[in-house]
Amino acid sequence: MKSLLKVGLVVLALSIVSCGKIGQKTEVKEKFHDSEWSYEGETSPEHWAELEKNSDCLGNRQSPINILDINAIEDDDKESIIDIHYSPVTILKKVRNNGHSVQFDFDKGDSIVYNKINYNLVQIHFHEPSEHTINGVRYPIEIHLVHQSKEKYYTVLSVFGVEGEKSEAIEEMESFLPLKKGQEREINKEFDLSRIFPENKTYYSYGGSLTTPPCSETVQWVIFKDPIVISLEEVLKLKDNMPLENYRNEQPINDRIVYLHKL
Ligand SMILES: [Zn+2]
Repeated sequence: MKSLLKVGLVVLALSIVSCGKIGQKTEVKEKFHDSEWSYEGETSPEHWAELEKNSDCLGNRQSPINILDINAIEDDDKESIIDIHYSPVTILKKVRNNGHSVQFDFDKGDSIVYNKINYNLVQIHFHEPSEHTINGVRYPIEIHLVHQSKEKYYTVLSVFGVEGEKSEAIEEMESFLPLKKGQEREINKEFDLSRIFPENKTYYSYGGSLTTPPCSETVQWVIFKDPIVISLEEVLKLKDNMPLENYRNEQPINDRIVYLHKL
């Protein structure tokens, strides 16, 4: 019994030493604060409302949705057009694998004005395949650019990715990967995120929710109609750093209207 305990202590000591070494070499920090929800089994999206008792996950303004072009109402009110103010010197602070997605955190600098309210970019993360669908079509990648107002309301810009030529912006972000679940890496470098948008910025908009618990119904969604092109290798690298199929399924649209803003 004693010798077993000794072996155990030696193994523990060795693992602490080796963790320390890995940490120094790659500047990767370990964090373990993930909540219970996931994308599979007993903690999959169908169970989120039971897992998070005070969430909005059973609400009637949930996201994502399937957008049908035929039902989208064209909005030509110039005042409501989104204004994107992204700077090439905004600091990309760090990247983390939070167990649900790969998330890049940004310092203050990039912002948008939407319906006369200012929202600051906080973080961007990825879903593979996409959460929103357009006319039933699911894209290989959906990028969520999460912006928050002073009053803690969200506007999330959504960019789809299709496979083709490689994207420089995605390539640069992926240079900070791989990360295992719970790991993060400090970056603190200037990053020009304006490269992530499609050339034509025609977009759909609707009122919805966060697509992860607590599914708060405080999100204005802005979904670019045109996808950007990223390479298959880039898709696969993102996929390797996230849970398999990290998307929530389609939610009922109920009485909501989807607008189309042609630009
Ligand atoms: Zn998301």
